[in-house]
Amino acid sequence: MTDAQRPNEVTRESELYIDGVWSPGGGFDLEVENPSTEEVIGVITQASAEDVERAVAAAKAAFPGWSTMSVPERTAVLRRARDVLAERADMFADIINREQGSPLKLARALHVDTPLAVMDATIEALQSYPFTAELGNSLIRREPAGVVAAITPWNLPLHQVIVKVIPALAAGATVVLKPAGLTPLAAFELARVFDAAGLPAGVFNLVPGSGRVVGDLLTRHPDVDQVSFTGSTPVGRTIAGVAAATLKRVTLELGGKSASVVLADTDDELLAKAVKITVGNCFLNGGQTCTALSRLIVPADRIEQTEQLAAAAAAKYQLGTRLGPLISADQRKEVESFLEAGAGGADAVTVTTVQPLPERGHWVTPTVVSRVDPDSRLAQEEVFGPVLSIIAAADDDEAIAIANNSIYGLGGAVWGSDEQAALDAAARIRTGQVDVNGGAFNPAAPFGGYKQSGTGREFGTYGIDDVCEIKAVQR
Ligand code: NAD
Repeated sequence: MTDAQRPNEVTRESELYIDGVWSPGGGFDLEVENPSTEEVIGVITQASAEDVERAVAAAKAAFPGWSTMSVPERTAVLRRARDVLAERADMFADIINREQGSPLKLARALHVDTPLAVMDATIEALQSYPFTAELGNSLIRREPAGVVAAITPWNLPLHQVIVKVIPALAAGATVVLKPAGLTPLAAFELARVFDAAGLPAGVFNLVPGSGRVVGDLLTRHPDVDQVSFTGSTPVGRTIAGVAAATLKRVTLELGGKSASVVLADTDDELLAKAVKITVGNCFLNGGQTCTALSRLIVPADRIEQTEQLAAAAAAKYQLGTRLGPLISADQRKEVESFLEAGAGGADAVTVTTVQPLPERGHWVTPTVVSRVDPDSRLAQEEVFGPVLSIIAAADDDEAIAIANNSIYGLGGAVWGSDEQAALDAAARIRTGQVDVNGGAFNPAAPFGGYKQSGTGREFGTYGIDDVCEIKAVQR
């Protein structure tokens, strides 16, 4: 039985989690669609303006108690939450499979096990976090920012929430969460996890709703001390502007156009690995990750070799098993616009074969386009779908210049047989993360963007730093 053939169940969520209790929401109902089948799988009640007020007031009232709890006490609650989430991991994978479309196996590994690893790394970082330090006659105190509004996207419905909420709670801040309208169901279950873990009332509050209403109310609210946003660069820009009225702290995790750079000295074996990993990274989650390595930059004299390797690697990404659909009809239309002739420049050629698409659902064929012009729309804009551009470079300097020829600066990769030269190249790439020769994801390492990919850092100690004010006390 494929994912699409499973019997449909419609989840009804009409109550919001505010101040430690479930109570009816006052906003309009919103339907949640399964992007694999286009069936309605959920109906939620959104928060009203009044609900947002109640949630912010609850978070503000809970702050003095939670922020002054000892680290071992906060740790105990977070560890319980982690364990409850782990017990319910299959249920979360099932929800994410239905609301976001990821094949079930990927839903478990990427969407549930990764946030669990991030929780572990954050709880570990909390144990040695320098809440106080000495500097001459000063005592340096790191104090939680206060009420943090977390506004999250649909591409990773649980992970993007965990990377914001857990560091905030670890620091001693209180949280109001507005999850993405397309994928709100996992957030309701997360509220149940916190409730089961005994998180004190008001420390975590859930207000689902549209960005323009609920997100905007939170961003403007004078009692919200920090907005932590993950989403598109245009909305990030709007949020930064609106938040400026109250000069609140803003963390922005935005879009990307990350490059995988193959240096000239890369041997054939490493090139094969580079192409395989870049294709996999670019197609991960249907290409809907902010860090997607969507540009593969290779020496011009290796372009044919790279095209063959990429076509073979891409053929393994079968729809429905390794690759899910796009999130919505709008997103599919947007991604298809990048596959039109001319989007990659005059010389661009498609090197993958077309896969038959299921009749229902927002599917697109995973696609590799080669000989892409580095200034073309395909090479410059974030596609947010399974489309890889291969770009030829004359030499290593030009490869790095092409990698940096972007308004974004989120992720990247470098491949080279001389590891030191590859590390030197990584230092020249203006992004918040770079993986050298397939370096593994590290849930404790700082994550965030240069340039228009955002401001602030998440994960581990850096994620806790991001929700802390720093105070100097002289004596
Ligand atoms: P989006 O910007 O449309 O929406 C993100 C969230 O912001 C949603 O909850 C939405 O309701 C809310 N929102 C929309 N308008 C708002 C407003 N005016 N005020 C306040 N909130 C508002 O993004 P999306 O389409 O859900 O997600 C895809 C984007 O997210 C991509 O660009 C992707 O690169 C980016 N992303 C970035 C990261 C990162 O860590 N850098 C991670 C994942 C996704």
